[in-house]
Amino acid sequence: MYEIGDAELKAVAKVIESGQLFRYRGGEGGQCDQFEKELAEKIGCKYSLLVTSGTGALTAALVGCGYGPGDEVIVPAYTFMASALAVLAAGAIPVIAEIDESMTIDPRDAESKISDRTRAIMPVHMMGLPSNLNALKKITRANKIDIVEDACQAVGGSYKKKRLGTIGKAGAFSFNHFKIIACGEGGAVLTSDRKVYERALIQHDGGCAFRGHAGSMSEPIFTGFNMRASEILGAIMRGQLKRLDKILDRLRARKAAFVEVLRDGKGFSMAPVNCVDGDCGVTTAIQFESEERRVKAEAALKEAGIGGSSPINSGMHVYSNWKPVLEQRAAHHPKLNPFNLTDRKYEYSADMCPRTTDILSRTLFLNTVYGKTPAQHRSRAKQALKALGKV
Ligand SMILES: *Cc1c(COP(=O)(O)O)cnc(C)c1O
Repeated sequence: MYEIGDAELKAVAKVIESGQLFRYRGGEGGQCDQFEKELAEKIGCKYSLLVTSGTGALTAALVGCGYGPGDEVIVPAYTFMASALAVLAAGAIPVIAEIDESMTIDPRDAESKISDRTRAIMPVHMMGLPSNLNALKKITRANKIDIVEDACQAVGGSYKKKRLGTIGKAGAFSFNHFKIIACGEGGAVLTSDRKVYERALIQHDGGCAFRGHAGSMSEPIFTGFNMRASEILGAIMRGQLKRLDKILDRLRARKAAFVEVLRDGKGFSMAPVNCVDGDCGVTTAIQFESEERRVKAEAALKEAGIGGSSPINSGMHVYSNWKPVLEQRAAHHPKLNPFNLTDRKYEYSADMCPRTTDILSRTLFLNTVYGKTPAQHRSRAKQALKALGKV
């Protein structure tokens, strides 16, 4: 979260004063409904659905697409574990693919992992950096499988002028505290496919059969779960959405100023960005020839007060730390475990994606500082170059 304030405070106060915190049964046309309309319009898709988390949004998107036991979804080895958890929550199997230097899924490695059971590739636009969607589109089209985007960290970002989250069959945003726009905990499903939307809607609300909108559905109602958002979340998110353009403009202007100076540096390279205009501007990734040099550079930048951290140390964002996934304990009961619902055997290990481990360990993220000016970012980059020059 970069900004929150008076607008959200007032909106929340209004909801509380109204005494109507539930989005259905009287809340129709209220904050959640209006937010969904505004979000779909802004991002450029037919439907959006506000839910209580990004993991929930991803799960509802995958359920919406109809994936289940026996199906495989290819996820990158560098993403928050929730990408894999959502696949498992839908009953399907996450197949882990390497990333490339862009810090997003390597299309060629993803392609090599397609089997007769693959239903989708899930690109994850980590740190607001767009995945290589043109390459992925070619591959998924040729293999008649889907793209489902995890755009949890990339709200508002785009790829070749189309917003991230709307390029595949379905997409998901997260609005948890750490994301670009936020309400503490929340998420959204994005799709232009009516069937996917209806099934996601059913999944997100176990009480769906009782709703007024149940009658207008063409999909049969199954037992879903509950990840309904309250009017309070809807109200906060409407305020946050109004801030999105300004937040992205600020981040991008600051990153551009930072990169303009940093790109002249020696001894490291700028990580390639798949779509510079669409990048959210959250971070600048720089890469070294070895882990050893990255460690030294990190220490030098720390000493100079510039900061920076390596994604290899980002805990549950690195596949080798996804213990319950790697050990295939994927449900509270063995009979619900998707690994027991398929006749295929899967093998995971902490060293199955060595290229990803290598890239992560050679990379440093220098995050954009929201409160500092572009000029300050230029001088920060100069200081960084000085510190790196001594490594
Ligand atoms: C944050 C995040 C999620 C999950 O979002 P929650 O709202 O925390 O459930 C999923 N994928 C990625 C890449 C994320 O960064």
